[in-house]
This record gives sequence, structure tokens and C-alpha cells, in this order.
Amino acid sequence: MEKELLHSALVKKYNQPIPRYTSYPTVPFWKEGFDIDEWKTIFKSRFDEQNLVNGISLYIHLPFCESLCTYCGCNKKITTNHNVEDEYLAAIEKEWTIYRKLMKQTPIIRELHLGGGTPTFFSPANLNRLLSFILKSAIVHPQHEFSIEGHPNNTTIAHLKTLYARGFRRISFGVQDNDPLVQQVINRIQPFENVKSAIENARAVGFESVNFDLIYGLPMQTLASIEKTVNEVLSLRPDRIAFYSYAHVPWTSKAQRLFDESHLPSPELKLQLYLRGKELFLKNGYFDIGMDHFAVPTDDLYKAWKQGSLHRSFMGYTTQRSGLLLGLGVSSISDTGNAFAQNEKTLHNYYEKINSGNLSVFKGYKLTATDIRFRKYILDIACKGKTWFRDEDYEILHEQVFPKLRDLEKDGLVECNEVGLQLTNEGHYFIRNICSAFDLYLEQVNEGSRLFSKAV
Ligand code: SF4
Repeated sequence: MEKELLHSALVKKYNQPIPRYTSYPTVPFWKEGFDIDEWKTIFKSRFDEQNLVNGISLYIHLPFCESLCTYCGCNKKITTNHNVEDEYLAAIEKEWTIYRKLMKQTPIIRELHLGGGTPTFFSPANLNRLLSFILKSAIVHPQHEFSIEGHPNNTTIAHLKTLYARGFRRISFGVQDNDPLVQQVINRIQPFENVKSAIENARAVGFESVNFDLIYGLPMQTLASIEKTVNEVLSLRPDRIAFYSYAHVPWTSKAQRLFDESHLPSPELKLQLYLRGKELFLKNGYFDIGMDHFAVPTDDLYKAWKQGSLHRSFMGYTTQRSGLLLGLGVSSISDTGNAFAQNEKTLHNYYEKINSGNLSVFKGYKLTATDIRFRKYILDIACKGKTWFRDEDYEILHEQVFPKLRDLEKDGLVECNEVGLQLTNEGHYFIRNICSAFDLYLEQVNEGSRLFSKAV
């Protein structure tokens, strides 16, 4: 009881709008009108450095969904017209062709992720067309990791077989919540039988790692409903579980305005939902990994966490690190380690640029040497739960970071000294807040509360 009160007080204190740190500096600080020629030069030089050493990572955004889940904050286009698939794939093929011309050697693909939207909106034949086109002018790295986000309602055995034949061994299903009332409010009707067949089919076809995404903090969720969802999920034993905090940002996600806000759990209940879920995962042989993730000890994500080789990017946590992530498709983000670039966010603008023979980058950021070092602190905390300070940063650390760390230490969330920092068990829940102590940009904006979702 005492522990719960302590948690509650900390949740109140730390429930601030904070980024999820899939990048640093975070997207709101990037600049529009990023120069495409400069981006091409950065990309070319990073490709030359990385390709033969580590290979490259590819993210392809497939934005279409048949119906709108009202909690969704992704870049998506809702349609039931499947004729859109051809036009979109043609644009991706053009974009890949433009990038291929910038590459002096054949690209070695180490990581490939199909994300969305709903990638399984596309027919198996069209996914095969896309993958054939990309892979015919590439080499697949011997330690490759190919993965896809599948919707339990429309992932067919034909999808799974097609992907398996192309080297996909990982799939992530959006489960979110099994409770019929919650599903009705979020407009995602997904009977548990569909989730069960999705994972059983994936395993039967040969997929080696299945992830389930769950969300806590959705409207109408209760302690009893989350327990039921988690227990049902545990009965299927996915290899990984991402247990995300629902981000309520109705000023950017219009569909969230459809919720009656009084149906959202209070921050205190939201914390209880998380703690109950976490307790059940840990009791059932899952381990807590970085921010929001749990995995069984046989899964590569857990092994990478233990070995300290986990990485975090726009694709979430990954076990591979290529040093160059190329994003294709509308709104996709590329990361060269020293620069970020984002594609146009509307299909209209994306098509317009790609069809006129240009890349569709509209926004980006070139990291300074300080950005790169502070990005590493944030990544270390998110991926290893600890970090070590560098001498050249002491002045900034003393002025801007250590005062915040002292506060976090007083609350029992970190243990730190002049050499480095380590998260405590309690600190795990507040990992975004701890990362934010190293974010030198966060305080530059007054409107932070409109840019990021609350930490809890
Ligand atoms: S949650 Fe997924 S399936 Fe639902 S609208 Fe968003 S991207 Fe589409």
C-alpha cells in the first residue's frame, strides 16, 4: 500500500508531456525545407561508410487501413478501395530507384521492416511484387532480420507464406485490448479467435518471433478488463509484448476527439493498469526490457538487452544496428546517424514529388557533435538502463542535466555519480522522464504540452 502511494505521488509529479525518444533531437525540432541535395550528399557518404561494414536497414511505410481505430496516432489513409495498392507500390519503386542511383555498390539489407497503416491491407501478390522489386537489386545480409506489422483481422496464411518465402521471421500483431466494450469505443472490433488464429498461423508457417502490441490507458479499460486481456494474451505466449501507454493527443489526432474524455482512466488508474499488466508478465516468465517492452528469455530482444546490444530507432527496439536506416513511403523517416530526413506526410504531396522524379523529403535535421553525444546518453538509458558521462560534456551536464538527475535520484529513480547513471527498478516506469533529463531542447519550447503526449 505504501509502495502504491509512493507510485501515485511520483506519477503525479512526472506525468508531463515528454517525447518517446525514437529520435534525438525529436521531430518537432527538425527544420522544414531541408535541402534535398544536401540530404543526398549525406546519404551517399553514410551509405559508402556503412554498407560493406554493417549493411543497411530499410523501413517501408504502407499507409492504408480499411477502418479507423479512434485511438490511432499513426500516419494512415482509411479506404476500402484496394485499387490504391498499385499506385502506391509504383511510387515506392520509383523512390527506391532514385536511392539506388545514389548507391555506388549493391545495398546489403540487414534489416527490413514493413510498417503502417496496415501492411496486410496489401494483397500477398502485391507484397511479393514490392519485395521482389526491392530485393532484386540488393543482397540480403546473412544475419538479416525481416519483420512486418500484421492486423489479426486480415493477415492470411497466404500473406504469411509469401513473407516467409522472402525471409521474414518476425511479425507483430496489433492486439491492443480484447475487451468488447473497449473495442467498440476504439472502433477496433477484433474477436480473440482472430488473434489466436493469427499467432497460430504465423507459428505454423515458421515465424520465429511473434510480438503483440497492447495498450493501457484506453477509454473504458478497468483493472478487471486489463487482467482478462493480459491473461488471454499470456495463454498464447507471444515471444514479445509491447505494452504501450495510450497517448491522448486530440489536438493532433482528430479521431481521438470522438472519445468522451470522462471514459479515459485517471492517471492513478492508468498506473494500476500498467502495474497489473507488468506483474502478470513478470509472473509468467517475461522480462522487462527498456521502455514499454517485455520478452521471453529465448527471444533475441531479451538476449540483446542482456548483452547490451539493443538499439532503438523509429522502428522501436531492434536487435540489429546497421548505422543507416532508409525510410521509403509517405511520412517515412531516414536516419544516417548524423542526420534525419522525413518524407512528405500526405499522399498527395508524396506522389507529386516522387512522380516528378524527386525524393519527397520535406523536413530534416543535421545533428551537431553535441547532439550525437547526448543522443547516445538517451539511447543508452532507453536500451541498457545505464550510461557513462564523457569529459567534454561536464560543463553542460553540470549546468543542465545534473540538477535534474539529483531530483530523480531523490525520488529513487536513478543511482548516479560523476561517472555515470543507472536506473533503479522503480526508475524503469519513468524511463522517458529520465531520458528527458538529457534532452537539451525540451525546455526551448513553451508549447511542449502540445507537442508530446504525457509520460504516463
Ligand atoms: S491503429 Fe493501425 S489499423 Fe488502426 S487506424 Fe491506426 S494504423 Fe490503421
